Amino acid sequence: MIISIASGKGGTGKTTVATNLAVSIGSHVQILDCDVEEPNCHLFIRPAIEETRTVTTPVPEVDEKKCNLCGKCAEICQFSAIIVLGETVLSFHELCHSCGGCMEVCPENAITEVPRELGIIETGHRNGLEFVHGKLRIGEAMSPPLISEVRSYTRADILTIIDAPPGTSCPVIGSMKGADFVLLVTEPTPFGLHDLKLALGAVRILGIPCGLVINRSDMGDHRVRDYAKQENLPVLMEIPFDRQIAEAYSRGEMAVEVMPEWKNRFLALYHRIEEIVE
Ligand code: SF4
Ligand code: SF4
Repeated sequence: MIISIASGKGGTGKTTVATNLAVSIGSHVQILDCDVEEPNCHLFIRPAIEETRTVTTPVPEVDEKKCNLCGKCAEICQFSAIIVLGETVLSFHELCHSCGGCMEVCPENAITEVPRELGIIETGHRNGLEFVHGKLRIGEAMSPPLISEVRSYTRADILTIIDAPPGTSCPVIGSMKGADFVLLVTEPTPFGLHDLKLALGAVRILGIPCGLVINRSDMGDHRVRDYAKQENLPVLMEIPFDRQIAEAYSRGEMAVEVMPEWKNRFLALYHRIEEIVE
């Protein structure tokens, strides 16, 4: 089973839920941190990293000696990542989506692919918990290919928990697609409600069953709960504001480490998800 943990906005407690859930389950589970722009599951999981590898994507390089300036490459590129300007062909690697179209249509075989670094992937373990995350290269804007690489570590024989990036754009969709369940995390504030509506809209388009965790549930107002009821979105867990949890978070510790009673609450959350998926 694949559970993707998502939220419309950052700072709602998504990583708290993902890491505490994974550590509570403990074995036969992997956590994939797909928030590649700002991965932070490792700060709490503290895995022993065993392997680091660089991820690249192919981008075009034009041999000007072979090029006849026909412009076919620029015509097919939907991202304006390659253009003919006067007597030269310019390619903008940071705009390229690596579709290979320009290379296919070039009549002179003037285009070859060269690798462009996107970031790194690190894998490791914490006891029986398998850990994978991606770190996007600083200045890199193209996160979906790195997210796909992180997701390629998904194992069919164990539970996969994905920590998705915040928001509702391509990287989030890439982190939710193919999941069996999406757990949305929000807080009961007007901002939380606004972004929950966007996130739920995206999940419903993908047609994935979902549920809600309300973090800092004793703050804010009732509108998130009213909205969940109106949308038949089951509230699977509420986490009230707790100074002990907040202090543990600031030290890079998880709620289940400092307050072991939370382990049963996260296990109950997992069993409710199992029931819904089944
Ligand atoms: S590989 Fe695709 S996206 Fe990149 S420059 Fe060529 S046509 Fe454009
Ligand atoms: S398609 Fe090939 S030959 Fe034509 S402009 Fe592009 S690189 Fe040059």
